[in-house]
Amino acid sequence: MKPLAEAQRRVLGAMAPLPIERVPLAAAAGLVLVEPADAPHDVPPFTNSAMDGFAVRAADLAAAPVDLVIVEDVPAGSVPALPVGPGQAARIMTGAPMPEGADTVVMVEATSSSGDRVHIGEPVPAGASVRAAGSDVASGERVFAVGTRLGPTHLGLLAAIGISAPMVRRRPRVAVLSTGSEVMPAETGRLAVGAIRDANRPLLMAMIAEAGAEAVDFGIVPDDAALLRSTLGEAAATCDAVLTSGGVSMGDYDLVKQVLAETGSIEFWRVAMQPAKPFAFGLLGETPLFGLPGNPVSVTVAFEQFVRPALLHRMGARLLFRPRIVGVLDEAVETDPAKIVFLRVIARYAAGEWRVGLSGGQSSHELTALAAANAFAVIPVGTGGLAAGEQVELEMFRWPEARTAEEVLGWTG
Ligand code: AMP
Ligand code: MG
Repeated sequence: MKPLAEAQRRVLGAMAPLPIERVPLAAAAGLVLVEPADAPHDVPPFTNSAMDGFAVRAADLAAAPVDLVIVEDVPAGSVPALPVGPGQAARIMTGAPMPEGADTVVMVEATSSSGDRVHIGEPVPAGASVRAAGSDVASGERVFAVGTRLGPTHLGLLAAIGISAPMVRRRPRVAVLSTGSEVMPAETGRLAVGAIRDANRPLLMAMIAEAGAEAVDFGIVPDDAALLRSTLGEAAATCDAVLTSGGVSMGDYDLVKQVLAETGSIEFWRVAMQPAKPFAFGLLGETPLFGLPGNPVSVTVAFEQFVRPALLHRMGARLLFRPRIVGVLDEAVETDPAKIVFLRVIARYAAGEWRVGLSGGQSSHELTALAAANAFAVIPVGTGGLAAGEQVELEMFRWPEARTAEEVLGWTG
């Protein structure tokens, strides 16, 4: 059995970077920059008003209350035609360029105007409500380094500096197939005795999408070596990575390893972890194959520990691993000291600390505890268990909405 970190290093070391290409911003979410993003111009590109109001000379306000002469209107998108001289003001809208001579904006709420006169009752500090050119990003500034993964806010900033088609690594295409003669599609009507529904494919396809990759569905393959060989061959030839579930344990019909050994290479098999101990990693030609165990909890843990970091690495990301925080156990837990153990837990923030309880049964077939969990409690090799009240490391694999409108707003619809 390989220690987890060693197995993870082997996997990352086997990942060739994906080819690079330019993609439009609308298609770039989740992808990773391979060029730094440098601003070719200031943001804001020109000094402008932060408020609807009046552009004035601060010096004129020293004698407030004052009446100033309105020389023109400056809506957003227009260019001021006239300078603002002493005793003058321009009516200005948010985002409109500051007229020459004006250095301050008085918001409309603090003024009263009639005809071409505006009355300002109180002085405001010089420079108030003015956004200087380059105050967000200066021309030439490095906005994002190579390796930045693009989320919605990154896309907004790229757009603001005119990078409309960033250079990224291609979105990986990831083949998914479930193995097992007992495994039936979810839409199967009545299950025959001995059959189970395929939980792993929808689970994996959604995790792949969430990692920023594209899932390609290769269906369910029964425990038949010839079928498995041909399906794996096609998947490896057309995709950047292949994920299988099932067929990597010690059983007589566990064919994934056998087919992998015949048609490619097994890089390693079995990791000192729980769940997902039988995880196998290999290569079919150039294409990495992640042989995930059959049980859905093992599938999820193996995906999180091997596949997700590997995909992010191939996409060019610098940050590969989920955030960890420290929590306090509500209950004692016992674990196998020979393995690193990922317990399915619910972590709740209460009274200044993260409280941690098991989210349900901890067998690797128990989907309910997996679905209820927001974190894995990570128990290191050699620990063997922890008492209630002890600290535990949490890997936050899901950080979803957790507060109702009633709790937050007192709103019940
Ligand atoms: P295996 O390693 O193929 O023996 O599978 C281990 C366990 O996971 C068995 O109980 C399988 O029935 C179960 N299993 C395999 N594939 C799936 C799947 N796609 N969805 C749900 N359970 C599965
Ligand atoms: Mg099987």
